[in-house]
Amino acid sequence: MHIDARKLPNQSEITGDICIVGAGAAGISIALDWMNRNYKVILLEGGGFEYDDEVQELYNGKTSGQKYFPLKSARLHYFGGTTGHWAGMCAPMDDLDFKKRDWVPHSGWPITKKDLDPYYAKAQETLQLGPYNYDFEYWRKELPDLNPFPFDKNVVWNKMWQFSVARFGKEYKKPVVKSKSIHLYTYANAVELRLDDTKKRVSEIKVANHSGKNHTVRAKHFIMACGTIQNARMLLASNTQTNKGIGNQNDLVGRYFQEHLEVASAELWLAKQFPTELYSWSYGETKASAELAIAESVQREYKMLNGTASLTPLRIAQYTKPRMETWQDSDPRKSADNMFANWREAAKKGEKETGNIEHAYSLTTRIEQAPNPNSRITLGSEKDSLGVPRANLHWELTALDKYSVRKIYQILGKQAGLSEFGRIRLNEFLRDENDPTFPDSTNGGWHHMGTTRMSDDPKKGVVDANCKVHGVSNLFIAGAACFPTSGAPNPTLTLTALSLRLSDHLKGLV
Ligand SMILES: Cc1cc2nc3c(=O)[nH]c(=O)nc-3n(C[C@H](O)[C@H](O)[C@H](O)COP(=O)(O)OP(=O)(O)OC[C@H]3O[C@@H](n4cnc5c(N)ncnc54)[C@H](O)[C@@H]3O)c2cc1C
Repeated sequence: MHIDARKLPNQSEITGDICIVGAGAAGISIALDWMNRNYKVILLEGGGFEYDDEVQELYNGKTSGQKYFPLKSARLHYFGGTTGHWAGMCAPMDDLDFKKRDWVPHSGWPITKKDLDPYYAKAQETLQLGPYNYDFEYWRKELPDLNPFPFDKNVVWNKMWQFSVARFGKEYKKPVVKSKSIHLYTYANAVELRLDDTKKRVSEIKVANHSGKNHTVRAKHFIMACGTIQNARMLLASNTQTNKGIGNQNDLVGRYFQEHLEVASAELWLAKQFPTELYSWSYGETKASAELAIAESVQREYKMLNGTASLTPLRIAQYTKPRMETWQDSDPRKSADNMFANWREAAKKGEKETGNIEHAYSLTTRIEQAPNPNSRITLGSEKDSLGVPRANLHWELTALDKYSVRKIYQILGKQAGLSEFGRIRLNEFLRDENDPTFPDSTNGGWHHMGTTRMSDDPKKGVVDANCKVHGVSNLFIAGAACFPTSGAPNPTLTLTALSLRLSDHLKGLV
């Protein structure tokens, strides 16, 4: 059922069993999981069914530190959330990503990959992917044209990806609106969480919109699914009863903001032509493809972060501008247009190039960012048009990030040399081993993670292993904000799996 909160009488009181705030990948995945259950699920969405610039403007905020996308255009603020812009690249994290690694400060999840496996399988369905099988040998049988590079498998392996074309706003509008148990309220922006007298339970959420209406939502359990930046902002901004904000007794909310560094890092010049279909991808067409990944034992040996390398023909890549340059318009639609226009232009120019360059590839890193407490979301002094302090992002990278990117190509370079397969040339910014900085051209993946990190210890994390906020008995966070470390793969498959696990946990509570 769908209700436009602008049309309700002012000061309406809305009650239900569970209240999910945010109808993006995380929020909709949970709501769908409750579709045929005899409970009243309130799904609050700040925007409508289409882009609305007045609502999108609520996402505006300042950035500092490493150059970043404008906060207003790095996410989408309407039904379906940021999946309205996503590329659909999906892969699960590796076993190692969940483990404590001595060389990665603040690493280690309180759950293992095995705990998430059944939910990864279910998330594959929500994201309309193929089977939950990311084994190279499986895909080789399915798609026999896929040829791996002749590298030592104990050093470099082929990490497989699948590709979703599901945009939640389009795919799931009908089932959500038709559902009797899901009560979707659009133009229902959560502006404050209120605690009861014990300060250990959320009693209600205040909702507002630009038509001047204010409403109150009461439920047994509340799930914040507004995206990583916004989840932290909402907890910090709910500071009238606890001056540090909700769940922030240990000054952790907003800290450890992580992105995936996606940065053109090296060139691969093949000794002779080799089919590279396994490492290529075309939107809407490719079922599965691979990136070059570094084996766990090698990561341990070199004390490096987990990352992969992907290939783009150099003749095209040389004309492709960094996304951090093309995605600088604060209107996300214009930024997307600028980026695609550059890609089309680069492809057109590159197609004309012939000769040796036809055997050359630009290698782009996709790597986790080491958890860093100083990389963080804070509240700005300015308020948005609904009276909520804006979110500011300080994005800060570390020397371990830079070392690990460089190390990937030293390892790949050795493999390419040993097998007489080709040569690898590091890009300029990686050549000085004493320089820990990243250039402004370093891309993020628009993957926001880590601001309400998971830990069994309230001094080390904001949520517990069930995504419940420490110290608040009925408040949960859904999404990549809960990731203690970010792994190399894009986050949506993992955050959907984690949300479905949370959904199962909630079933035992209501
Ligand atoms: C260009 C681009 C490409 C991407 N490509 C990939 C990719 O290939 N693979 C991948 O895994 N990920 C990709 N991502 C990231 C992916 O889109 C996000 O990981 C995912 O959408 C996050 O899901 P979420 O539900 O946590 O947040 P969102 O999808 O952002 O949803 C949050 C929802 O909460 C609502 N909301 C916010 N604040 C409030 C409030 N106060 N009250 C009520 N509602 C509120 C928003 O309107 C929105 O609907 C990409 C992102 C971008 C921008």
